[in-house]
Amino acid sequence: MKEKIWLSPPHMGGKEQKYINEAFETNWIAPLGPNVDGMESDLIRITEKKYALTLNSATSAIHLALIILGVKQGDYVICQDFTFCASANPIVYLGASPVFVDSEKDTWNMSPAYLEQSILACMNGTIDGNGKAQKPKAIIPVHLYGVPAKMDEIMAIAHKYEIPVIEDAAEAIGSTFLNKPCGSFGELGVLSFNGNKIITTSAGGALVSDNEKYIKHARFLSTQARDQAPHYQHSQVGYNYRMSNINAGIGRGQLEVLQDRVLKRRQNFEFYKQKLGDIKGFQFLEEPKNAFSNRWLTCLLVNPSETNGVDREVIRLALEKENIESRPLWKPMHLQPIYENSPYFGEGFSAELFEKGLCLPSGSNLSDEDLQRVVNAVLGCIQD
Ligand SMILES: *Cc1c(COP(=O)(O)O)cnc(C)c1O
Repeated sequence: MKEKIWLSPPHMGGKEQKYINEAFETNWIAPLGPNVDGMESDLIRITEKKYALTLNSATSAIHLALIILGVKQGDYVICQDFTFCASANPIVYLGASPVFVDSEKDTWNMSPAYLEQSILACMNGTIDGNGKAQKPKAIIPVHLYGVPAKMDEIMAIAHKYEIPVIEDAAEAIGSTFLNKPCGSFGELGVLSFNGNKIITTSAGGALVSDNEKYIKHARFLSTQARDQAPHYQHSQVGYNYRMSNINAGIGRGQLEVLQDRVLKRRQNFEFYKQKLGDIKGFQFLEEPKNAFSNRWLTCLLVNPSETNGVDREVIRLALEKENIESRPLWKPMHLQPIYENSPYFGEGFSAELFEKGLCLPSGSNLSDEDLQRVVNAVLGCIQD
C-alpha cells in the first residue's frame, strides 16, 4: 500500500516543543500561564484586535460570544447555511433558533441579499407559523475554506439593522479582506486551532474583539464564573472552556510559521488548478475581489454532465483506493436532520456545492510528488 495522504494533517514548525518544555520546567501545567499570555498577545497582533481570549475550542468561543450578546431561549440567530455544524450548534445550546442563509456564487459564503431577506422576515413575523416578530440577536457569517465572505456588504446590513456580528473565522486565520484580517470585522471574531486546521494546538480556539467588556465577560464565564471571594462563590452559571498552557505552547510555535503555512497552502491550490483547472466539468473557486485566502482546503467542483457522468463520489472513491483522503464539501445545515425544521433563505446553491464539491488533500507538508499522486488519481477517473 502506498503511503497515506491525509486531507489536512498537523504540521509542526519546530519551536512548539521548546514552549512546551518551558511549561514543564516552570510547572505551568494549567489552563493559564506564560504560553497562554504569549499566545493571546500573538493573536492580538495577528488579528489587529485589542483583546484576545484563548479557549479549548472554537465551538466554545461561539457559545460564549452568543451568551455575551444576550442570546436567550426563543431568540433568532442568523447563521450561514453552508458551514460546519459548530457554527450553528451553540445557538441551540441556548434554546435559540437558527435561521439559515444560503451562499452566493463569488465567495461560497453568506449571501448579503438573502441575509437582508431573512432579517426582514424575522422582523415582520413571516418567518414561522406563529407570527412572532422579532429582530435577530446576532449574525454568524463564515469564511469557508479560508475564502473571505463579503464582510463589507454583510457589515453594512448588520449596521443598518443594528445587529451584532460573530465572525466565524475558524478556517480563515491568515486570510484577509480589503487588507484586514478575517476575524477582525465583526463585534466578535472566532478562531479554531483544531487538529485539521491550517495551524493547530491539537484542540483549541479563540475569541477576539475590540470590546474589552466582551472579552472580560467571556474570560469570567470560561473559568466557571467565579465571583471575587477567597472561597468558591458563583452567582452565574459558568463553563470550563480555557486553553491549557501546554496547548498554548504548541500555538505559539505554530503562529510563528503561519505565513509559511498560508503560502504553501496557496501553492497547493495553484498546483491543482494548473493541472486540473482546464478539464471540462472541473472548476475551482477564484479568489474573490479584495480577498486574500489562506486556501485552507482546495475544493474541486465536478459537474457530471460535462465529465461523462464522473461525479465527485467516483473521484473520492478512486482516491480512497489510492490511499488518499478527500472529503465532500460541508453538507449545508438546512439539509441536516437536526436542522430540517429550521428556516432557510436561499436558492439551493449550498446544496449544489455539497453535491458537486470535493476537498482535495491540502496539507502544508505535501510534497510535489504527493500532489502529483493526487492529480494522477483524479485524472485516472476522467481518462478511462
Ligand atoms: C472547525 C470549525 C469550527 C469549530 O472549531 P473547533 O475548534 O473544532 O470547535 C467552527 N466553525 C467552522 C467553520 C469550522 O471549520
